[in-house]
Amino acid sequence: MKIDIVTVHPDLLSSYFNHSILKRAQEKSLVQIELINLRDYSTNKQKSVDDYAYGGGAGMVMQAEPIANCIDTLQKNTKYDEIIYMCPDGELLNQPTLNNFSLKKNLLILCGHYKGVDQRIRDTYITKEISIGDYVLSGGEIPAAALADGIIRLLPGVLNDETSALFDSFQDDLLAPPVYTRPENWRGNTVPEILLSGNEKAINDWRHEKSVELTKEKRPNLLNSK
Ligand code: SAH
Repeated sequence: MKIDIVTVHPDLLSSYFNHSILKRAQEKSLVQIELINLRDYSTNKQKSVDDYAYGGGAGMVMQAEPIANCIDTLQKNTKYDEIIYMCPDGELLNQPTLNNFSLKKNLLILCGHYKGVDQRIRDTYITKEISIGDYVLSGGEIPAAALADGIIRLLPGVLNDETSALFDSFQDDLLAPPVYTRPENWRGNTVPEILLSGNEKAINDWRHEKSVELTKEKRPNLLNSK
């Protein structure tokens, strides 16, 4: 899989993608991540990519031409399955959407800034608009990192135990059960005995029970969504 991310702050993202699981996924060639600096496609010497909003009001708007130049150039080499714009008014990101994206070959993610991008870019190029929540951040970099991270960890071979992503919260409309590690007795709090029993079936049953219990308690809407 290839994920290209267009941003005015590639340095903000490079550190995130060069650590831990995401770094290893690239080293193993399971994913190729390219950070593209939108300023390289600026139409002026100052390398600016924004301008005042028509109609007035506070805040700058990202201009259409640099983004169009950038995407046109990238599309010469890559046929994208989706061109995604991160924005608060997009479709709310959830696990099924991540599962779906993880089956694609080439994704382009556009990070906005300021008041967002000129609407004509959204109308012309964008095939999916994704929000990471009903709140507003100052830029699309954290949303893009969240999206890419959520996709990459689903790719076969990225997680050490390949099945582990299947048991994460939301994969089956259930929250994940509680987890414990050594020591067995931590400041007088002990690990549930069943987890030490070695009885795989009993452990799986317990985990499922706990998942259902937790979901009922914390997110009953997930159970009702069926
Ligand atoms: N004026 C816009 C917000 C712009 S925030 C509005 O009210 O909808 C600046 C940029 O940050 C956006 O273009 C987008 O790329 C990113 N962003 C902010 N919050 C986001 C969210 N919840 N989900 C996805 N992207 C977000």
